[in-house]
Amino acid sequence: MDQIVQQLNKSHNVLLASHVNPDGDAIGSLIALGLALDEMGKKVVLYNESPIPAVYRFLPGVERIQHHLDVSARYDAAILLDCSNLDRVGSVADVICRFPVIINVDHHYTNNGFGHYHLISPSACATAEIVYGLVKALGISFSTAMATSIYTGILTDTGSFRFSNTNRSAFVICDEMVGLGVKPDEIAQHVYGTYSLGRLKLLNLALDSIEISSNGELALMVLTQEVMAKTETDVCDADGLINYARSIENVKLAVMIQEAPQNGQGAQGVGGFNVSLRSNGSVDAAAIASLFGGGGHFTAAGFYIDAPLLEVKRRLKDIASNLEQWEPTACLLPKRPASVAMNARR
Ligand code: AMP
Ligand code: MN
Ligand code: MN
Repeated sequence: MDQIVQQLNKSHNVLLASHVNPDGDAIGSLIALGLALDEMGKKVVLYNESPIPAVYRFLPGVERIQHHLDVSARYDAAILLDCSNLDRVGSVADVICRFPVIINVDHHYTNNGFGHYHLISPSACATAEIVYGLVKALGISFSTAMATSIYTGILTDTGSFRFSNTNRSAFVICDEMVGLGVKPDEIAQHVYGTYSLGRLKLLNLALDSIEISSNGELALMVLTQEVMAKTETDVCDADGLINYARSIENVKLAVMIQEAPQNGQGAQGVGGFNVSLRSNGSVDAAAIASLFGGGGHFTAAGFYIDAPLLEVKRRLKDIASNLEQWEPTACLLPKRPASVAMNARR
């Protein structure tokens, strides 16, 4: 933390970036830290390759996020947020890897330790929790705008304080953010209370696509481009639908196979499938995702695969027949307190 603070104190031009297909944590962390560095008088560019989902467009400062990077500009440092590896940032990874200073701020236990400085805490409920600590260490006070982004990051990554990553810090930090003027009801209304008709139609078709493995332990959901076109929805509308599959009784692992758009927008690759995994806690979703070159958390993970749909399904069903193999091993459980884990390099 001290080294990163020193590094940022002497940097003038800083690039902040988070992962493709951003969620509330990727966007909230980006904005909160961006506004803090603004306060310090830094020249800051906020970057995300993908469009911002409509539900997050209310965040104050969201208009600062750029989707194109001027590759000829000179930066003293890049801060990568909520990215378990550098490629998660999308096509600009090749440019960023040549930056003189890369700072990796993340909470995925599968983080591969890229970059020169690391603030990686697998026990943090969200990257926003780590950003909160960094902003404090930088000596910047939270504006209501920054607080709104931190709150949204924690709210969404903990599934509204329901997932197993919900820790005491989630409540302590959110309590402080509410004290700074954050309105929980307004944020909840923006994030969860406003659905397009298309999204509801998509939900209908997504529920219809559910298949259960023969042992009842795996639920598979498929969203094709055809279905997205029919309902006039995009990748952002699919966010959270997998939780319906996860909530089916006896299901240990829910899978959503989502066909990536042919134009590559909002996806990790062109064509192919983005696969999301959600576990009920009895199997390690991140370990399964790693098998396919992806990563994530114990209970929420993902990967990209370029293979025919039938093959993707077959490989996942093979895993379903042997889920005991993916039960957690004690060493992977985040047991250490945040203060210790914060320094851990993964
Ligand atoms: P999602 O299912 O897209 O909401 O992602 C669930 C978790 O898995 C998030 O923490 C992501 O950062 C992570 N994840 C998703 N896709 C990938 C990928 N291709 N590579 C590494 N991590 C991923
Ligand atoms: Mn994320
Ligand atoms: Mn996150």
